[in-house]
Amino acid sequence: MQLPREVVVGRGSIEFIGPICRGLGFTKRVLLITGEVTFEVAGSAIKERLEGEGIKVEEHIITSNTPTIHDVKVCEEKIVRFRPQVVLGVGGGAKIDIAKLSSANRRIPFISVPTTASHDGISSPFASLKGLGKPYSVMAQSPIAVIADTEIISRAPYRLIAGGCGDIIAKFTSVRDWRLAHERKGEYYAQYTASMSLMSAQHLIENSHLIRPNSEEGLRVILESLISCGIAMAIAGSSRPCSGSEHLFSHALDLIAPKPALHGEQCGIGTIMMAFLHGLDWEMIRDNLKRIGAPTTADEVGIEPRCIVEALVIAPRIRPERYTILHEKPLSHEEALALAKETGVIE
Ligand SMILES: [Zn+2]
Repeated sequence: MQLPREVVVGRGSIEFIGPICRGLGFTKRVLLITGEVTFEVAGSAIKERLEGEGIKVEEHIITSNTPTIHDVKVCEEKIVRFRPQVVLGVGGGAKIDIAKLSSANRRIPFISVPTTASHDGISSPFASLKGLGKPYSVMAQSPIAVIADTEIISRAPYRLIAGGCGDIIAKFTSVRDWRLAHERKGEYYAQYTASMSLMSAQHLIENSHLIRPNSEEGLRVILESLISCGIAMAIAGSSRPCSGSEHLFSHALDLIAPKPALHGEQCGIGTIMMAFLHGLDWEMIRDNLKRIGAPTTADEVGIEPRCIVEALVIAPRIRPERYTILHEKPLSHEEALALAKETGVIE
């Protein structure tokens, strides 16, 4: 298994970027993959610090709003030309995923510097991008270091941070789905990684009162949880501990909704409904999401009720091999509608 060697979470942690790179032996050439805005908020400061350490830095700025596998290819060409010792992904989900996948394809290490806390891809070995032919994530590589600066991340829109909580709370149902697959299909179930994933969701619930706009304390809770989830996936060598029926529901929405919401928001709403199907305390999950300020209804994320129903029905077909509660009891349109209404996701 591949695990990060350095994880730094805290205020001003990008100040350590130089010593971290040096300590890992990256003393000559670094390629920085980022976006226009994220270069402004974090990338340029990182470049300056690294250059101050005598490291040659080249930045590659991704300008498209919806990055695809094409951006990965462009980054790979850049890697071949510039020959960096390490690739730094500085940004939200997409920029990190592009850096992660392009560096993995070219067999060089990657450092994750998230500027938001919107999903667990900031520390996981998986990447999810359009054009891969799959609506879910694929194996790339674990970051060799994760540097999460709470001062920078706290400047991200709160919607992104609250969305990250949906991706954490999802572990209540993803772990249940995994155990179900073990019981029904004899799938390998690793209790240690399952516990680790579940612990992140519990950590979030126990500290949900700290999570609100401009709370660095709350942000630290979210980052710790997201990073542990990523590490649980790295240990498992699979996204199984962190991605179950609630994720299939979110992937289905990405395929059919005219304007999908954030990954974490969709997963959070999915978790409420999947918890109901699993016989878990779905109201506790909904109430915690509400308290955090994350959406709990279709209306709040601007998705039409018919898309919610359709996504519930088609979700198990997205990954037939990944057995979940939705494979155990596939929902008809009527049952899906009843579930969404019962849990208050649609009126
Ligand atoms: Zn996720």
